[in-house]
Amino acid sequence: MAEGACAVSGLAGRGAMDGGMEGEPHSPVQAPAAPARHEGAFFPVVRPRRLRTGEPMRALVRETAWSARQLIQPLFVVPGRGIRQEIASMPGQFHLSPDRAGQEAKAIQAAGVGAVLLFGQPEAGGKDPVGRGAWAPDGAVPEAIAEIRAAAPGLIVMTDVCLCAYTDHGHCGVPGHAGDIDNDATLPLLARTALAHARAGADVVAPSDMMDGRVGAIRTALDGEGFTRVAIMAYSAKYASAFYGPFREAEDSTPAFGDRRGYQMDPANVREALREVELDLGEGADMVMVKPALAYLDVIRAVRERFDVPVIAYNVSGEYAMVKAAAERGWCDERAVAGEMLTAIRRAGADAIITYWAREASGWVS
Ligand SMILES: [Zn+2]
Repeated sequence: MAEGACAVSGLAGRGAMDGGMEGEPHSPVQAPAAPARHEGAFFPVVRPRRLRTGEPMRALVRETAWSARQLIQPLFVVPGRGIRQEIASMPGQFHLSPDRAGQEAKAIQAAGVGAVLLFGQPEAGGKDPVGRGAWAPDGAVPEAIAEIRAAAPGLIVMTDVCLCAYTDHGHCGVPGHAGDIDNDATLPLLARTALAHARAGADVVAPSDMMDGRVGAIRTALDGEGFTRVAIMAYSAKYASAFYGPFREAEDSTPAFGDRRGYQMDPANVREALREVELDLGEGADMVMVKPALAYLDVIRAVRERFDVPVIAYNVSGEYAMVKAAAERGWCDERAVAGEMLTAIRRAGADAIITYWAREASGWVS
């Protein structure tokens, strides 16, 4: 049915309901007669291209925007001093010692980026079966938090909370029976890790392990030490994705046995993502995340429509590295493709985006 015809019947229906107002005679509202040419095909009267005539007009009616303040820059911090070493599989991303992370954060803050998200690593040879390095008070992450606090006061500092970079087997939890990862034995270790980050001054802790009940365990531990203002950004819908390849090189966290499908989500599922988000919110998550982003835009949309909390999307390493590699070969325009990706992720419903382009992309918008 043509839009004009819908409008006529809609007005008539309202008129019939409202017509019985006190003291007024019942009189159906007369809809203005639509010109006959509006019936059926709208062209040539309606021409959507009128609103695409130039950038000022396009900008006026643009539905989706992103700005630097909605971007979160991941930083890979390592023990030591004076280290700034590029990660081969992620051009433009670096392993940074805490002092250099402070310098980097200062530049990131000056660029207007909303936050940094820290990923740590232990000293060489510092991995063990339970990942003790994850909660070491003198680890790279707590030291980087202190450096960033000093160099970039006011910048939001988030920390990834997981064990996989610190365990010698590369899993996000401790092994239990039959090669499985022991959920409940992992929870106190995650809580200790989150506490170490909170004590060092983190604004937000972000558990990425996908153990059941970890948000509640972390919230309880934080509140028990008075860190009621430290927020939790839960990796609620984190999929067992092949898009994480470059990150695992950066974090040296490829599992030594098995894979992460016993705790991360099956890429085929979306209803389960809503269930995970609901559980995390029930346990006290302040923000929820969908990871990865681009192959999961429908999941971002579904979470956005169901829940009224900030939804964060993680534009992951594989999504970044593919564009970098193609651009290096002259096969695509990196800035145009990355900008389109960020727009798509926002359009799907993400409030903020964790992206390796954060600092760079902040210079694309002004
Ligand atoms: Zn992990």
